Amino acid sequence: MNRREEKLVVIALGGNALLRRGQNGTFEEQYENVKQTCKILADLIENGYKLAITHGNGPQVGATILRHDAGFRVYGVPPFPMDVCGAETQGFIGYMIQQALTNELLMRGIKKNVITIITRVVVDKNDPDFSNPSKPVGAFYTEKEMMEIKKIHPEYIFKEDKARGGWRRVVPSPDPKYLVEMPGIKALVDAGYIVISSGGGGIPVIEENSEMRGVEAVIDKDLAGERLATSLGASKFIILTDVDGIYVDYDKSTRRKIDVIRVEELKKLYDEGHFPPGSMGPKVKAAIRFIESGGDEAIIADLKDLMNAIRGKAGTHIIR
Ligand code: ADP
Ligand code: MG
Repeated sequence: MNRREEKLVVIALGGNALLRRGQNGTFEEQYENVKQTCKILADLIENGYKLAITHGNGPQVGATILRHDAGFRVYGVPPFPMDVCGAETQGFIGYMIQQALTNELLMRGIKKNVITIITRVVVDKNDPDFSNPSKPVGAFYTEKEMMEIKKIHPEYIFKEDKARGGWRRVVPSPDPKYLVEMPGIKALVDAGYIVISSGGGGIPVIEENSEMRGVEAVIDKDLAGERLATSLGASKFIILTDVDGIYVDYDKSTRRKIDVIRVEELKKLYDEGHFPPGSMGPKVKAAIRFIESGGDEAIIADLKDLMNAIRGKAGTHIIR
Protein backbone atom coordinates (compact mmCIF):
# COMPACT_ATOMS: atom_id res chain seq x y z
CA MET A 1 0.00 0.00 0.00
CA ASN A 2 1.00 3.59 -0.57
CA ARG A 3 2.26 5.77 2.23
CA ARG A 4 -0.72 7.57 3.73
CA GLU A 5 -1.17 11.22 2.93
CA GLU A 6 -2.35 13.20 5.94
CA LYS A 7 -4.25 15.94 4.15
CA LEU A 8 -5.54 13.91 1.24
CA VAL A 9 -9.22 13.02 1.37
CA VAL A 10 -11.32 11.16 -1.16
CA ILE A 11 -14.89 12.41 -1.43
CA ALA A 12 -17.69 10.26 -2.83
CA LEU A 13 -20.65 12.39 -3.88
CA GLY A 14 -24.08 10.77 -3.67
CA GLY A 15 -27.16 11.31 -5.80
CA ASN A 16 -28.22 14.51 -4.00
CA ALA A 17 -25.03 16.31 -5.05
CA LEU A 18 -26.35 16.28 -8.62
CA LEU A 19 -30.11 15.93 -8.40
CA ARG A 20 -32.62 16.55 -5.64
CA ARG A 21 -35.76 14.57 -4.97
CA GLY A 22 -38.66 15.74 -7.12
CA GLN A 23 -36.50 17.47 -9.73
CA ASN A 24 -36.86 16.65 -13.42
CA GLY A 25 -33.19 16.46 -14.31
CA THR A 26 -32.80 19.45 -16.63
CA PHE A 27 -29.20 20.44 -17.21
CA GLU A 28 -29.84 23.76 -15.43
CA GLU A 29 -31.14 22.00 -12.30
CA GLN A 30 -28.19 19.65 -12.20
CA TYR A 31 -25.65 22.40 -12.79
CA GLU A 32 -27.21 24.54 -10.05
CA ASN A 33 -26.95 21.59 -7.62
CA VAL A 34 -23.34 21.01 -8.64
CA LYS A 35 -22.60 24.70 -7.98
CA GLN A 36 -23.95 24.34 -4.43
CA THR A 37 -21.94 21.15 -3.96
CA CYS A 38 -18.77 22.88 -5.17
CA LYS A 39 -19.16 25.65 -2.57
CA ILE A 40 -18.99 22.94 0.07
CA LEU A 41 -15.96 21.30 -1.58
CA ALA A 42 -14.23 24.68 -1.94
CA ASP A 43 -14.47 25.20 1.84
CA LEU A 44 -12.45 22.05 2.29
CA ILE A 45 -9.82 23.18 -0.22
CA GLU A 46 -9.63 26.61 1.42
CA ASN A 47 -8.91 24.82 4.69
CA GLY A 48 -5.84 23.22 3.17
CA TYR A 49 -7.14 19.79 2.24
CA LYS A 50 -6.13 18.01 -0.95
CA LEU A 51 -9.00 16.17 -2.49
CA ALA A 52 -9.90 13.61 -5.09
CA ILE A 53 -13.54 13.30 -6.08
CA THR A 54 -15.81 10.52 -7.22
CA HIS A 55 -19.57 10.59 -7.79
CA GLY A 56 -22.65 8.51 -8.54
CA ASN A 57 -24.52 8.46 -11.86
CA GLY A 58 -27.70 6.40 -11.30
CA PRO A 59 -30.38 8.82 -12.57
CA GLN A 60 -27.98 10.26 -15.17
CA VAL A 61 -27.03 6.97 -16.80
CA GLY A 62 -30.71 5.96 -16.63
CA ALA A 63 -31.57 9.09 -18.67
CA THR A 64 -28.72 8.46 -21.11
CA ILE A 65 -29.97 4.95 -21.78
CA LEU A 66 -33.48 6.34 -22.40
CA ARG A 67 -32.07 8.92 -24.84
CA HIS A 68 -30.32 6.17 -26.79
CA ASP A 69 -33.46 4.07 -26.70
CA ALA A 70 -35.69 6.92 -27.92
CA GLY A 71 -33.11 8.00 -30.52
CA PHE A 72 -33.22 4.52 -31.96
CA ARG A 73 -37.02 4.26 -31.96
CA VAL A 74 -37.61 7.74 -33.44
CA TYR A 75 -34.60 8.31 -35.70
CA GLY A 76 -32.98 4.91 -36.06
CA VAL A 77 -29.77 6.16 -34.42
CA PRO A 78 -28.00 3.02 -33.18
CA PRO A 79 -27.97 2.87 -29.37
CA PHE A 80 -24.67 2.39 -27.51
CA PRO A 81 -23.91 -0.33 -24.96
CA MET A 82 -23.98 0.37 -21.21
CA ASP A 83 -20.24 0.80 -20.72
CA VAL A 84 -20.29 3.56 -23.34
CA CYS A 85 -23.32 5.19 -21.68
CA GLY A 86 -21.35 5.13 -18.43
CA ALA A 87 -18.43 6.85 -20.16
CA GLU A 88 -20.81 9.52 -21.51
CA THR A 89 -22.07 10.32 -18.00
CA GLN A 90 -18.54 10.46 -16.57
CA GLY A 91 -17.81 13.06 -19.24
CA PHE A 92 -20.76 15.36 -18.69
CA ILE A 93 -20.82 15.12 -14.90
CA GLY A 94 -17.06 15.72 -14.81
CA TYR A 95 -17.54 18.77 -17.02
CA MET A 96 -20.14 20.22 -14.63
CA ILE A 97 -17.87 19.76 -11.62
CA GLN A 98 -14.79 21.11 -13.46
CA GLN A 99 -16.69 24.23 -14.51
CA ALA A 100 -18.42 24.90 -11.19
CA LEU A 101 -15.43 24.11 -8.97
CA THR A 102 -12.86 26.16 -10.92
CA ASN A 103 -15.30 29.11 -10.99
CA GLU A 104 -15.95 28.84 -7.24
CA LEU A 105 -12.23 28.59 -6.44
CA LEU A 106 -11.33 31.51 -8.72
CA MET A 107 -13.93 33.63 -6.92
CA ARG A 108 -12.02 32.84 -3.72
CA GLY A 109 -8.69 33.68 -5.35
CA ILE A 110 -7.57 30.06 -5.65
CA LYS A 111 -6.24 28.94 -9.02
CA LYS A 112 -6.48 25.16 -9.30
CA ASN A 113 -6.92 22.83 -12.23
CA VAL A 114 -9.76 20.36 -11.98
CA ILE A 115 -9.45 17.36 -14.29
CA THR A 116 -11.80 14.48 -15.08
CA ILE A 117 -10.36 11.09 -15.92
CA ILE A 118 -12.58 8.71 -17.86
CA THR A 119 -11.98 5.70 -15.64
CA ARG A 120 -12.22 1.99 -16.33
CA VAL A 121 -12.59 -0.37 -13.40
CA VAL A 122 -11.61 -4.01 -13.71
CA VAL A 123 -14.12 -6.58 -12.49
CA ASP A 124 -13.75 -10.35 -12.30
CA LYS A 125 -15.43 -12.04 -15.26
CA ASN A 126 -16.35 -14.87 -12.87
CA ASP A 127 -17.99 -12.51 -10.36
CA PRO A 128 -21.14 -14.27 -9.04
CA ASP A 129 -23.26 -11.25 -10.01
CA PHE A 130 -22.73 -12.04 -13.70
CA SER A 131 -24.84 -15.18 -13.37
CA ASN A 132 -27.44 -13.46 -11.18
CA PRO A 133 -27.91 -9.83 -12.31
CA SER A 134 -29.93 -7.73 -9.90
CA LYS A 135 -29.51 -4.03 -10.66
CA PRO A 136 -32.49 -2.54 -12.59
CA VAL A 137 -31.62 0.00 -15.32
CA GLY A 138 -33.46 2.07 -17.93
CA ALA A 139 -37.15 2.18 -18.82
CA PHE A 140 -40.16 0.17 -17.76
CA TYR A 141 -41.58 -1.94 -20.59
CA THR A 142 -44.82 -3.79 -21.22
CA GLU A 143 -44.46 -7.52 -21.76
CA LYS A 144 -44.96 -7.00 -25.53
CA GLU A 145 -42.24 -4.31 -25.72
CA MET A 146 -39.93 -6.52 -23.72
CA MET A 147 -40.42 -9.41 -26.17
CA GLU A 148 -39.60 -7.05 -29.09
CA ILE A 149 -36.35 -5.99 -27.42
CA LYS A 150 -35.52 -9.63 -26.70
CA LYS A 151 -35.64 -10.31 -30.47
CA ILE A 152 -32.79 -7.80 -31.00
CA HIS A 153 -30.98 -8.58 -27.73
CA PRO A 154 -31.69 -12.18 -26.71
CA GLU A 155 -28.96 -11.87 -24.06
CA TYR A 156 -30.84 -9.20 -22.08
CA ILE A 157 -32.41 -10.26 -18.79
CA PHE A 158 -35.64 -8.61 -17.64
CA LYS A 159 -37.40 -8.76 -14.31
CA GLU A 160 -40.96 -7.80 -13.55
CA ASP A 161 -41.53 -4.96 -11.11
CA LYS A 162 -45.15 -5.64 -10.16
CA ALA A 163 -45.37 -2.68 -7.77
CA ARG A 164 -44.42 -0.14 -10.45
CA GLY A 165 -46.13 -2.08 -13.23
CA GLY A 166 -43.67 -3.19 -15.86
CA TRP A 167 -40.62 -5.11 -16.98
CA ARG A 168 -37.17 -3.72 -16.49
CA ARG A 169 -33.77 -4.78 -17.65
CA VAL A 170 -31.44 -5.97 -14.89
CA VAL A 171 -27.66 -5.96 -15.16
CA PRO A 172 -24.92 -7.35 -12.93
CA SER A 173 -23.22 -5.18 -10.31
CA PRO A 174 -19.85 -6.90 -9.88
CA ASP A 175 -17.31 -6.03 -7.20
CA PRO A 176 -14.66 -3.51 -8.35
CA LYS A 177 -11.07 -4.82 -8.33
CA TYR A 178 -8.91 -1.88 -9.39
CA LEU A 179 -8.92 1.32 -11.44
CA VAL A 180 -7.08 0.93 -14.74
CA GLU A 181 -6.21 4.64 -14.88
CA MET A 182 -4.85 4.67 -11.30
CA PRO A 183 -1.20 5.56 -12.16
CA GLY A 184 -2.37 8.63 -14.08
CA ILE A 185 -4.82 9.66 -11.36
CA LYS A 186 -2.07 9.32 -8.73
CA ALA A 187 0.41 11.36 -10.77
CA LEU A 188 -2.11 14.18 -11.21
CA VAL A 189 -3.14 14.18 -7.53
CA ASP A 190 0.54 14.22 -6.49
CA ALA A 191 1.11 17.16 -8.85
CA GLY A 192 -1.62 19.11 -7.04
CA TYR A 193 -4.52 18.75 -9.45
CA ILE A 194 -8.06 18.11 -8.25
CA VAL A 195 -9.04 14.89 -9.97
CA ILE A 196 -12.53 13.54 -10.63
CA SER A 197 -12.44 9.83 -11.39
CA SER A 198 -14.27 6.50 -11.32
CA GLY A 199 -17.55 8.39 -11.83
CA GLY A 200 -20.64 6.23 -11.48
CA GLY A 201 -18.39 3.52 -10.05
CA GLY A 202 -16.31 3.47 -13.22
CA ILE A 203 -16.71 1.77 -16.58
CA PRO A 204 -16.76 -1.96 -15.90
CA VAL A 205 -14.19 -3.88 -17.95
CA ILE A 206 -13.06 -7.49 -17.82
CA GLU A 207 -9.69 -8.92 -18.76
CA GLU A 208 -9.93 -11.63 -21.39
CA ASN A 209 -7.14 -13.08 -23.54
CA SER A 210 -4.82 -10.28 -22.37
CA GLU A 211 -7.27 -7.68 -23.60
CA MET A 212 -9.72 -5.41 -21.80
CA ARG A 213 -13.34 -5.32 -22.84
CA GLY A 214 -16.26 -3.19 -21.58
CA VAL A 215 -19.21 -5.14 -20.21
CA GLU A 216 -22.93 -4.53 -19.69
CA ALA A 217 -22.89 -3.96 -15.95
CA VAL A 218 -22.77 -1.24 -13.33
CA ILE A 219 -20.40 -0.83 -10.40
CA ASP A 220 -21.35 0.62 -7.03
CA LYS A 221 -19.74 4.04 -6.72
CA ASP A 222 -18.95 3.70 -3.00
CA LEU A 223 -17.15 0.37 -3.46
CA ALA A 224 -15.18 1.79 -6.40
CA GLY A 225 -14.52 4.95 -4.35
CA GLU A 226 -12.88 2.82 -1.69
CA ARG A 227 -10.50 1.34 -4.28
CA LEU A 228 -9.63 4.90 -5.33
CA ALA A 229 -9.12 6.11 -1.74
CA THR A 230 -7.03 3.11 -0.75
CA SER A 231 -4.84 3.19 -3.88
CA LEU A 232 -4.19 6.91 -3.41
CA GLY A 233 -3.21 6.32 0.20
CA ALA A 234 -5.77 8.90 1.36
CA SER A 235 -6.09 9.36 5.11
CA LYS A 236 -9.85 9.85 4.96
CA PHE A 237 -12.58 8.46 2.75
CA ILE A 238 -15.71 10.59 3.03
CA ILE A 239 -19.03 9.36 1.65
CA LEU A 240 -21.47 12.25 1.31
CA THR A 241 -25.15 11.48 1.01
CA ASP A 242 -28.61 12.73 2.05
CA VAL A 243 -28.73 11.30 5.57
CA ASP A 244 -26.70 12.58 8.56
CA GLY A 245 -24.99 9.26 9.28
CA ILE A 246 -25.41 5.55 9.87
CA TYR A 247 -28.36 4.44 11.97
CA VAL A 248 -29.20 1.20 13.71
CA ASP A 249 -32.90 0.27 13.48
CA TYR A 250 -33.15 2.93 10.76
CA ASP A 251 -36.80 2.27 9.94
CA LYS A 252 -37.97 1.67 13.51
CA SER A 253 -38.99 4.04 16.30
CA THR A 254 -35.90 2.83 18.18
CA ARG A 255 -33.62 4.32 15.47
CA ARG A 256 -30.32 5.61 16.80
CA LYS A 257 -27.52 7.44 15.01
CA ILE A 258 -23.94 6.23 15.40
CA ASP A 259 -21.38 9.01 15.90
CA VAL A 260 -18.15 6.99 16.16
CA ILE A 261 -17.72 3.26 15.71
CA ARG A 262 -14.87 0.77 15.50
CA VAL A 263 -14.70 -1.28 12.37
CA GLU A 264 -15.12 -4.60 14.26
CA GLU A 265 -18.35 -3.35 15.84
CA LEU A 266 -19.66 -2.06 12.50
CA LYS A 267 -18.97 -5.44 10.88
CA LYS A 268 -21.25 -7.08 13.46
CA LEU A 269 -24.06 -4.63 12.70
CA TYR A 270 -23.51 -5.17 8.96
CA ASP A 271 -23.89 -8.91 9.43
CA GLU A 272 -27.06 -8.32 11.48
CA GLY A 273 -28.59 -6.70 8.38
CA HIS A 274 -29.03 -3.08 9.49
CA PHE A 275 -27.93 -1.76 6.11
CA PRO A 276 -29.91 -2.57 2.94
CA PRO A 277 -28.04 -3.58 -0.25
CA GLY A 278 -29.37 -0.76 -2.47
CA SER A 279 -28.47 2.17 -0.21
CA MET A 280 -26.53 2.14 3.08
CA GLY A 281 -25.15 -1.41 2.65
CA PRO A 282 -22.45 -0.66 0.07
CA LYS A 283 -21.43 2.53 1.91
CA VAL A 284 -20.83 0.58 5.12
CA LYS A 285 -19.02 -2.18 3.23
CA ALA A 286 -16.81 0.40 1.50
CA ALA A 287 -16.04 2.12 4.83
CA ILE A 288 -15.08 -1.21 6.43
CA ARG A 289 -12.80 -2.09 3.51
CA PHE A 290 -11.11 1.31 3.63
CA ILE A 291 -10.16 0.94 7.29
CA GLU A 292 -9.13 -2.69 6.86
CA SER A 293 -6.88 -1.65 3.97
CA GLY A 294 -5.03 0.83 6.18
CA GLY A 295 -7.07 4.04 5.96
CA ASP A 296 -7.29 6.21 9.10
CA GLU A 297 -10.94 7.12 9.05
CA ALA A 298 -14.04 6.70 6.93
CA ILE A 299 -16.88 9.18 7.32
CA ILE A 300 -20.47 8.88 6.19
CA ALA A 301 -22.24 12.23 6.42
CA ASP A 302 -24.78 14.58 4.93
CA LEU A 303 -23.32 16.56 2.03
CA LYS A 304 -24.14 19.91 3.66
CA ASP A 305 -22.29 18.90 6.87
CA LEU A 306 -18.92 18.25 5.20
CA MET A 307 -16.87 20.79 7.16
CA ASN A 308 -18.40 19.78 10.49
CA ALA A 309 -17.95 16.12 9.61
CA ILE A 310 -14.23 16.51 8.92
CA ARG A 311 -13.89 18.28 12.30
CA GLY A 312 -15.59 15.34 14.01
CA LYS A 313 -18.81 17.22 14.77
CA ALA A 314 -21.15 15.53 12.29
CA GLY A 315 -21.69 12.28 10.45
CA THR A 316 -20.63 8.77 11.43
CA HIS A 317 -16.91 8.17 11.90
CA ILE A 318 -15.55 4.68 11.31
CA ILE A 319 -12.18 4.05 12.92
CA ARG A 320 -9.85 1.12 13.51
P1 ADP B 1 -26.55 8.06 -2.41
O1 ADP B 1 -27.27 8.49 -3.62
O2 ADP B 1 -25.97 9.19 -1.62
O3 ADP B 1 -25.57 6.95 -2.66
P2 ADP B 1 -28.52 6.21 -1.24
O4 ADP B 1 -29.94 6.58 -1.46
O5 ADP B 1 -27.95 5.12 -2.08
O6 ADP B 1 -27.66 7.54 -1.38
O7 ADP B 1 -28.26 5.85 0.31
C1 ADP B 1 -28.63 6.78 1.32
C2 ADP B 1 -29.94 6.37 1.93
O8 ADP B 1 -29.78 5.19 2.73
C3 ADP B 1 -30.55 7.35 2.90
O9 ADP B 1 -31.35 8.31 2.24
C4 ADP B 1 -31.39 6.44 3.84
O10 ADP B 1 -32.75 6.57 3.57
C5 ADP B 1 -30.96 5.04 3.50
N1 ADP B 1 -30.68 4.14 4.63
C6 ADP B 1 -31.04 2.84 4.66
N2 ADP B 1 -30.64 2.24 5.80
C7 ADP B 1 -29.99 3.19 6.52
C8 ADP B 1 -29.33 3.17 7.80
N3 ADP B 1 -29.24 2.06 8.53
N4 ADP B 1 -28.78 4.33 8.25
C9 ADP B 1 -28.86 5.46 7.50
N5 ADP B 1 -29.46 5.53 6.27
C10 ADP B 1 -30.02 4.42 5.78
MG1 MG C 1 -29.12 7.38 -4.19
